Formats: sequence, structure tokens, C-alpha cells
Amino acid sequence: MTIEHLQYLKHSNSKASKMVTELQQKGIHHEALLQLMLTIPRHDFVESAFSHLAYSATPLPIGKSQTISQPLTVAVMTQWLLKYSRLGRVLEVGTGSGYQTCILSHFFNKVHTIERQKSLFDTAHQRLSKMAIRNVEFHHGDGHLGWPTTLKVDAVIVTAMANKVPLALTDCLKDKGILIMPLDQPEPMIGCWQKLNDQWKRLEDGPAQFVPMLEGLVCD
Ligand code: SAH
Repeated sequence: MTIEHLQYLKHSNSKASKMVTELQQKGIHHEALLQLMLTIPRHDFVESAFSHLAYSATPLPIGKSQTISQPLTVAVMTQWLLKYSRLGRVLEVGTGSGYQTCILSHFFNKVHTIERQKSLFDTAHQRLSKMAIRNVEFHHGDGHLGWPTTLKVDAVIVTAMANKVPLALTDCLKDKGILIMPLDQPEPMIGCWQKLNDQWKRLEDGPAQFVPMLEGLVCD
């Protein structure tokens, strides 16, 4: 962590403290994760009309009819990564506000993140640059197609709901890599799998509430 990071890490407020207490009560126990979620200014990641609700247990609008996941969902997915994944390189599909990206950037050496909506992509990119986060590569693209250049990652995390896992996302995962993704079939759930010799071992699952993973780019 750099000196620049400390500037925003100074931030904390009573709503954030309450959020963290609720996360602990719901089974989030990773100390560094809780500390990070206490200090990241989540109110800066949502539409300004909803910033007073930013620390509440609910998804919130981030623009373009998209939502930031509720804090517990972000914390559960991240805790799975911290438990099971090597913390080298991670690919995220669905940058959205950049909140999950910001959290990943503190734990992984390198984050690659893909967003299909240009305006969300631009805003998240600027937001994380202002926070002096330097280990994130941004791509305006369709996550179904994976990263535009050859990439091998330790983990893939998808924050939009699909009905099947895109091949490009499993192909770029190293052996023993971790995939976290919400799927809406046979019923909506989020799963955490490990790739083992091209077989998949399910490690965790839980309830899921996500916007859909859509095809193609939006350029406005
Ligand atoms: N992780 C985000 C949550 C974003 S919601 C956050 O912390 O704010 C899911 C995001 O996935 C939306 O921004 C949506 O535009 C994006 N998305 C949906 N389908 C996609 C696709 N095929 N490729 C890339 N991004 C996609």
C-alpha cells in the first residue's frame, strides 16, 4: 500500500462502522477485508441521489440502469477469493462503479477488469485513477470474449448474471484457478469453483441478485 492510498484510507464514518458490524454478524471475518471496507468511501461509488444509502444492505443504482452489489455480496465473493485463490492476477467482468475492482486491487498484484458500458467504464477508470490505484488494467469490451490479449489468471470474478459460463473466461484460468460467477440456471445462485485438470470442483455457493450479463458494447 502506498502513501497515496492512506489519504482515502483515512476516511471512515459511523455508517461504514455499522456496515462492517453487520458484515461480521453475517460471517465475514477476514480482518484486512473488513478494515478495507470500513475505509473505502462507498458513497463515492453510487449515484449521488443514493449516497446516503451507500452503506445499507441493498444494491444501489450506479447509472445506466446498473447496480452496485450490496456490501455483503461483495464481501462474500472477496472472502472466497482470499480463502481459495492465489493473489497474483485476477480478471473481473463487470467493472460497474469500480467498487469491487478497488477492493480486488488491494489484494491482488494485478487486476484486469472489463466493462461493456462506455460511460461506466470511463467513470470507474477516472475514479480509481484519482484514488491513486495503479495496478488495474481497464478494458471497454464484452466479457463473453475475455481479455483482448493472451492472459492467464489465478481467478475470474463475474459480477453480472449469465446462464452459462463463457468459454473465454474458463480458458484464461490457470490450473487450480478460482472462478466466481452468478448463474441463473437451474436457479439463480452464485458459485465458487476451482479448475482442476479441466474439471470443476464446486467450493461454495450462495444466493444471487445481479443484473444480467449482456452481449455487445454500449458506446454512449
Ligand atoms: N462490480 C460492480 C457491479 C456492477 S453491476 C460494482 O462494484 O459496481 C454489473 C456490471 O456488469 C454492469 O456495469 C454491466 O454493464 C456489466 N456487464 C454486463 N454484461 C457485461 C459483459 N458482457 N461484459 C462486460 N461487462 C458487462
